[in-house]
Amino acid sequence: MPDGRATIRDSAGLIDAGLAPASGRGALDAVGARYAVAIPPALAALIEHPGDPIGRQFVPDPAELTVAAHERADPIGDDAFSPVPGIVHRYPDRALLKPLLICPVYCRFCFRREHVGPDGGVLTPAALDRAYAWLRGHPAVREVILTGGDPLMLSPRRLGEILGALAAIPHVELLRIHTRVPVAEPDRLLALTEVLDVATPLWLVVHINHARELTADAVAAIRAVQRRGVPVLGQTVLLRGVNDSADALEALFRAMLAARIKPYYLHQLDPAPGTARFAVPIAEGRALLATLRGRVTGLAWPTYVLDIPGGHGKVPIGPEYVADGTVLDPWGRRHPL
Ligand code: SF4
Repeated sequence: MPDGRATIRDSAGLIDAGLAPASGRGALDAVGARYAVAIPPALAALIEHPGDPIGRQFVPDPAELTVAAHERADPIGDDAFSPVPGIVHRYPDRALLKPLLICPVYCRFCFRREHVGPDGGVLTPAALDRAYAWLRGHPAVREVILTGGDPLMLSPRRLGEILGALAAIPHVELLRIHTRVPVAEPDRLLALTEVLDVATPLWLVVHINHARELTADAVAAIRAVQRRGVPVLGQTVLLRGVNDSADALEALFRAMLAARIKPYYLHQLDPAPGTARFAVPIAEGRALLATLRGRVTGLAWPTYVLDIPGGHGKVPIGPEYVADGTVLDPWGRRHPL
């Protein structure tokens, strides 16, 4: 288990931390040249070996350089729906704003892996002004979702300026931030709590895939945000070898509820390049969720969703209970309607 205080960013760091053999240096360098690598201390400390549910998410693997026929660089079609840099507009009432493409950790299954990285994607002040102007010119947009990259990697000052500019747009009624920071760098979240206390309702959606990511530090930082009146939701990607069992999902969703986090979405893996080793078939995902029905409180049940590849939108794909004039009970028995 690594105990370093610096973020691991390359093969040397992985080998020093005991997360890869020295003989793997060449293969790791090849992956690192293609896709960003970062494992901050809070997550590195949770990795017992590279193949465990935490290591598997963040330790690079040579398999990432093998692209399956169905995989695509922009699996959910962001680029086709971007009217100005930084904005993605796919649904009438909401828009994404991506102020930067930097993350605290780089997930090996990331759906934006062709774009995210430590060097790129910070919108200039002029680009941000164009994004605000676009939003001001589209009164049907009632919700702005800050994503990236990870918006909580911005400095408190810059994040505060962006939230203030969005809150000043009269038709924007709702703000949302999608982030990995609470589990990857809890101290950074603590430094941002004041900035997140804005007049426009703000929801924080935290990406968490395994119960062990919710450490005491992460829970304490999230609690500090909740005390500011910011509701917190959880989103999870269904991943082979990470959370592909009913026990793992139950433990995760129970840990979220214990931290006052409502499980919101369980995502089917997006077919980004080199991620096939994480894929769980939809039929298996539906069976897992069906197993949890009746076993956990309804509050613990997320919506199982697929972003239809090619940018065709996000739809629920969870188990069906009504079919052929019958309804399924939580224990798998059918009853006539
Ligand atoms: S935190 Fe999100 S955007 Fe960043 S690498 Fe992970 S999945 Fe991708």
